[in-house]
This record gives sequence, C-alpha cells and structure tokens, in this order.
Amino acid sequence: MDAGKLYFHKRAVRIKTAERTVYFSDGTKIIYDELYSSIPLPEMVGMMEEVPKKIKDKARRLEHTGVALVSIGLRACKQEKLWFYIYDTDIMAARAYMPSVKSSGNVPVGCASIQFEIYFNATNSEAPEEKIAVENCLYALEKLGIAGVADVLFTDFRVMPYGNVICLRQTEKDLPEIISWLLGAKVTPIGRFGKWEYLWSDQAFMSGYRAIRNGNILMPYRR
Ligand SMILES: Cc1cc2nc3c(=O)[nH]c(=O)nc-3n(C[C@H](O)[C@H](O)[C@H](O)COP(=O)(O)OP(=O)(O)OC[C@H]3O[C@@H](n4cnc5c(N)ncnc54)[C@H](O)[C@@H]3O)c2cc1C
Repeated sequence: MDAGKLYFHKRAVRIKTAERTVYFSDGTKIIYDELYSSIPLPEMVGMMEEVPKKIKDKARRLEHTGVALVSIGLRACKQEKLWFYIYDTDIMAARAYMPSVKSSGNVPVGCASIQFEIYFNATNSEAPEEKIAVENCLYALEKLGIAGVADVLFTDFRVMPYGNVICLRQTEKDLPEIISWLLGAKVTPIGRFGKWEYLWSDQAFMSGYRAIRNGNILMPYRR
C-alpha cells in the first residue's frame, strides 16, 4: 500500500506490533512507521498480539452504549427545537435532533425531519427491535406534540454499535493502564472510542491532529 493514500472499506482484524503490521479482513496488510488508532479500545486490544492478559481483561470490561437511531421524514411539524432531551419513562428515546431546524436545505421545501436516539448498554444487552422502536418513536411524536402520525412520510432505523462510553469507577482505574500499555507498544489511541472519552466530533478530530503533530508528522498547527 502507498503512504499518504486513504483506503476505504478496510476492516483491521489483526495487529502485530513487533512487525509493525496491520492485517485486514480482505487479506491485505500494511506495514506502518507509526500507528494512530480510533478503533474502539476493546476491539483494538482484542486484535493485537502479545497483549498481557491483565490488559486484555481490563479492556474487556470497558462498557459502552450502543444507539438505535429512528429517523422520521415529516410533511409538517409543530416543533422548532434543534435538539432536546426526553425524560418520559414511556418513551424509549433519550434525545431527539431535528436536521430540518439546523438547515431547511436538509429537507424538501415545507418538510421536516427528526432523529430519535435510543441508547442501550451494548456490553450486556441487545439493541431494541426495529418494530418496537419505530412504533414508540411515532408515539413520542404525538405525545410530545411534534407531529401527527398522518404527517409521517417515511421512517428509517439503524443501529450504531458504539454510542457513548460508560464511565464507571473501574474505568478510571483501568483506562490509564490500557493506554499506557498501548503507547508502550507504539500505538497512539485517538478519537472518542480510541481514547475512551466523551469527546464531541471536533474534540475527536483534534485528538488525532494533536497526537500526530506531537509525533512530528504534520506541520505545526497555525491559528
Ligand atoms: C447519536 C449521536 C449524536 C451525536 N451528535 C453529535 C453532535 O451533534 N455534535 C458533535 O460534535 N458530536 C456528536 N456526537 C459525537 C460524535 O459522533 C463523535 O464524537 C465522533 O464521531 C467521534 O469520532 P471518532 O472518529 O473518534 O469515532 P467514530 O466516528 O466512531 O469513528 C471510528 C471509526 O472506526 C471504524 N472502525 C471500527 N473498527 C474498525 C476496524 N476494525 N477497522 C477499521 N475501521 C474500524 C468505525 O467504522 C468508525 O468509522 C454524536 C454521537 C452520537 C452517537
């Protein structure tokens, strides 16, 4: 593989740090000079060879949420909040976001869109079923006075395996040890699930930028 090129649709499956080699699911491999990884920590540690059992065990007990996203296209809407939290115990979603409030260019003229976020503990439970999740979000639409079911043009359901990291007391103890071991193996974790921190997208991006800048690969950052 050529340096400086971006490769898409590659899934890393194994890493041999002693040989500085990453193996991909399509049978290809790459030898690296420096490795920066935004792959979720438990998966990253799981695919590395030569990891002490103590570190593997610590990485395995990191917990995170997954998130089921129910997106709804509407022909009309009575709500104009960009995003809001939901505390009703009969509504599965904890938060909703309206791309059509962000920009009217996100929807056809006169229409609206909303995305409900249903979080679940991905470490020890399954994502909600599509039918149950979508029905509950349609119920939420009406209950919260956002729109009537008759206004719904379409729904979309998808599950992201990583939503947020879960901060437990044990995480505070385990995380520094895992990261310190990775750095010792010349792997720099970056991003939300690489660093296992509640980072927003700009912070996730900058964590990678800063790590690489410190490794002197990029030009110094200029404001
Ligand atoms: C529902 C939701 C709403 C959010 N809203 C906002 C918002 O409004 N504003 C904001 O700033 N932030 C928001 N965030 C947070 C934001 O999405 C994250 O901070 C950001 O995406 C983290 O970027 P990242 O590159 O670190 O991780 P990710 O975006 O998770 O990227 C990691 C990548 O690694 C890939 N990967 C995993 N395993 C492998 C492997 N073995 N081989 C190759 N690739 C692999 C994954 O496919 C993924 O593409 C939101 C998050 C969620 C879940």
